[in-house]
Amino acid sequence: MAIGARTTANMERRYLLRDRVRSLRDSYPSRTCENHLVSEPIKPGTPDPRDFLGIDALLDGEERLLRDTVRQFVADRVLPDVADWFEAGVFPKEMAREMGALGLLGMHLEGYGCAGTSSVQYGLACLELEAGDSGARSFASVQGSLAMYPIWAFGSEEQKQEWLPRMAAGDLIGCFGLTEADSGSDPSSMRTTARRDGGDWVLNGSKMWITNGGIADVAVVWAQTDEGVRGFVVPTETPGFATNDIHQKLSLRASVTSELVLSDVRLPGDAVLPNVVGMKGPLSCLNEARFGILFGVIGAARACYESALDYSKERTQFDKPIASFQLTQRKLVDMMVGINRGMLVALHLGRKKDAGTLDAAQISFGKLDNVRMALDVARSARSVLGANGITLEYPVIRHMNNLESVFTYEGTNEIHTLILGQAITGESAFS
Ligand SMILES: Cc1cc2nc3c(=O)[nH]c(=O)nc-3n(C[C@H](O)[C@H](O)[C@H](O)COP(=O)(O)OP(=O)(O)OC[C@H]3O[C@@H](n4cnc5c(N)ncnc54)[C@H](O)[C@@H]3O)c2cc1C
Repeated sequence: MAIGARTTANMERRYLLRDRVRSLRDSYPSRTCENHLVSEPIKPGTPDPRDFLGIDALLDGEERLLRDTVRQFVADRVLPDVADWFEAGVFPKEMAREMGALGLLGMHLEGYGCAGTSSVQYGLACLELEAGDSGARSFASVQGSLAMYPIWAFGSEEQKQEWLPRMAAGDLIGCFGLTEADSGSDPSSMRTTARRDGGDWVLNGSKMWITNGGIADVAVVWAQTDEGVRGFVVPTETPGFATNDIHQKLSLRASVTSELVLSDVRLPGDAVLPNVVGMKGPLSCLNEARFGILFGVIGAARACYESALDYSKERTQFDKPIASFQLTQRKLVDMMVGINRGMLVALHLGRKKDAGTLDAAQISFGKLDNVRMALDVARSARSVLGANGITLEYPVIRHMNNLESVFTYEGTNEIHTLILGQAITGESAFS
């Protein structure tokens, strides 16, 4: 089928996410979500241990519906198998189409087969995906915020028509190539180049630590040119493009992470993203993804806290449930307070993003504090589970290990500290 015809066919698949959500919800008529956060009425005076501040009431009906639907999807399709994926070090490629059918890919973008949700709705979806596993959330974040977003924001109309509908459907998988082996926190030091050769571009270099790299159909690659850093849409079947998956990871194992190698990759002149030059391009994509993370990690933290809370009430030592010991209660209370605080921050930032008043440094606030909180929660929950906490039978150590990556990618904890330090002092401490 010609690209034009394919594009038209895909364009006809423009469902709004809420329609998909409703039909999916209808297909689960007899199921009640076991998670207590769902639709639990808030009784004044009896705070719900799983929603202590009653933050659920700050969501509107549409947001709760979407949240519950993604939670059900995760319960059905991620949680039963994710420990095995983690142990085997795989992320099943077919999940792309399933997430696409639900409208989760590029969901906060308008048009081109995307669902066009609000930022808060996008954040809630990230939260529920990450309650399953950071790998599932990373897949959706990279596809939507790092691969589709630059095409949507900076691409030509032809590029948008060609790539976005199929990426939204999960028919094509994307990746985002910015980091290099010697260029991490300072991506402007990248060495990958793109030079003009007649009407073509020729790319040389390599990218490291690229999520979805080995399973991608298309890579958005950032490279130095005579005009500054530019983004290129690279079909991964192009001669000279190769990938090597990174093995022996002990974090984000249910996610593909790869090296991209570009050896004289020749692309037509219209492969460049025409509407951005300079680091503004990749950095604006990172802001989109960081926003998803500041919501997402609350899901990972919630899964750890709930696991520890349940375990502490069942596990007996010294003839008493360990939940009755003051030291255990201190851990559980710190977890609960951190999660509620993080959720309020996320929701506030989400409302600001939807209102168009969110600053990039405020995203750094959320990424810094919520990831730090989630990692603290995971480590503390791990200790509550004792020896059981080191097995994949419980979700805790999987989340704990995943969060080490989340602490590092999309701007390390230190880089976000420096962004905030600069924002409040006016002084740059980066170099
Ligand atoms: C699982 C995983 C998936 C990833 N996916 C992608 C992807 O899809 N696409 C992509 O492009 N990249 C991806 N990355 C790369 C990620 O964004 C980088 O790892 C991150 O930017 C940090 O770079 P680095 O690892 O080279 O660490 P470095 O930059 O070498 O930092 C090492 C340490 O030095 C600190 N440091 C650096 N500079 C300063 C400074 N000025 N002041 C104080 N401390 C400093 C850092 O905070 C850190 O603690 C991924 C990484 C992981 C682990």
